[in-house]
Amino acid sequence: MGYIKKELQDLIKCMDETFLIESGVRKWIRQSVYPKHNLILKSKNGYYCTNCKKLFYSTARVGEYVECPKCKETLLVRMKTLQYQIFKDDFRIINYINGYFVLRGFEVSSTYSSNKVTHRYQEYQRLVISKDKIYLLVSNVFKNYLGYTMVNYNEKHIRWRLLDGQYRWYMSRGSIYWGELKRDLEGSLYYYCPIERGVSPYNNNQDIETLLQRVLINPIAFELLSKLNLTNLAIHCDRFINRGSFEKRFGVTKNYLPFMVKHNITYDELEVLQIIKHKNIKVIRKLAELNSYKELAQYVDLEKALANGLTKSNEHMYLDYLSFAKRLHLNMKDKRVLYPKDILKSHDELMHQVETIENQEIIEKIKIRYEELKNLSYQDDKYIIYPVPTMSDLINESEVQNICIRSYNERYANGKTNLFFMRNLKNVTKPLIAIEVRDKKIVQSRGKGNNEPTRLQKAFITKWENEVLKGSVLYA
Ligand SMILES: [Zn+2]
Repeated sequence: MGYIKKELQDLIKCMDETFLIESGVRKWIRQSVYPKHNLILKSKNGYYCTNCKKLFYSTARVGEYVECPKCKETLLVRMKTLQYQIFKDDFRIINYINGYFVLRGFEVSSTYSSNKVTHRYQEYQRLVISKDKIYLLVSNVFKNYLGYTMVNYNEKHIRWRLLDGQYRWYMSRGSIYWGELKRDLEGSLYYYCPIERGVSPYNNNQDIETLLQRVLINPIAFELLSKLNLTNLAIHCDRFINRGSFEKRFGVTKNYLPFMVKHNITYDELEVLQIIKHKNIKVIRKLAELNSYKELAQYVDLEKALANGLTKSNEHMYLDYLSFAKRLHLNMKDKRVLYPKDILKSHDELMHQVETIENQEIIEKIKIRYEELKNLSYQDDKYIIYPVPTMSDLINESEVQNICIRSYNERYANGKTNLFFMRNLKNVTKPLIAIEVRDKKIVQSRGKGNNEPTRLQKAFITKWENEVLKGSVLYA
């Protein structure tokens, strides 16, 4: 439950004073919600529809849904001896008030009992949509018992409280009554926006509040795009600017408008059109399905790539391949480089080359690190400590001691950490202890199988830490 700021408190008060349930709503519920809340009752006389009150014959079984041949409503089949059945559904009314869209959420509950169906409904939540926020309000009649939610029809609505945004995704649902919106919008900036036409096809989509929010953000673009019959672009009206030439707004010249209208292009399709500037809807739709057409367009001609076998399933591999090619300084103007015959094979080849080069870099850098750190070497008559000299020593230590020190190679090479070996002077080549040092402190010291050093070994390491590390110039 959240704190309700003044602006929203005022809005709640205003809504409570003005919102009604008009006769148009009641008629709409009777026509579109109630008919679903009926049954087909099976008896030895046949099948009886409680909606149109007619008898018909069928072979449907109890528990199945069947379409009544008389009223065409698809209803649940139950035995005529059924005593009690309850139906629940949600519906919404859309309103506009003081610059906000409000989706008022209702539950309808219908009870079938002793051959009669009775209906009732209760408003229990409101989704308040502003340009920058969407609030979910719930009424005190909405109950939540340990995750089991219900609407209490016997309680009176008294107050609204604010719920966290995460609930709204499943709370606001059901078909929408649009009949009040036009009147609400009179005199507002949104009056000429064909909102119902543009947004209602997305009724069953949970994102409808996001679409309404976009209309609030840029009603001018929404109206313009809708009037051009670019309804698929209209639902992305927030991405358009309202000033400048056609080309500035759409990224293509006005010559493309008839083509755009004819195919009612989507925003992705517009982006592809901006790149390829070619009125070929088949090609555009294929390319618009890709996730990375923009990135790919930095390297290749998208149409040529498509002809060369670019698909949704290999686009990422292709993009990787192209970035490898660039890293390896291949000729990015050469068609054989840009459009390889076998994307997978070429990808694997270049990846191998890149890895080898990276490895080579690390190998060289580790040698330099050794030179930088070798002044920190230390020994007494029994032990010696020295920095890790080479990549192969690191790999060897990992394998012999069964520890993961080799995975530190990049960090060590790039000076992000410092790695040392401790050896017994009697057998300097035999792995004993590996030590990681950061900020002049020993972060870890590991023997075979990640074991801690012995007491004697530890004493030597501590001596080294105090006498050498503390006075040193170590940055990592
Ligand atoms: Zn019927």
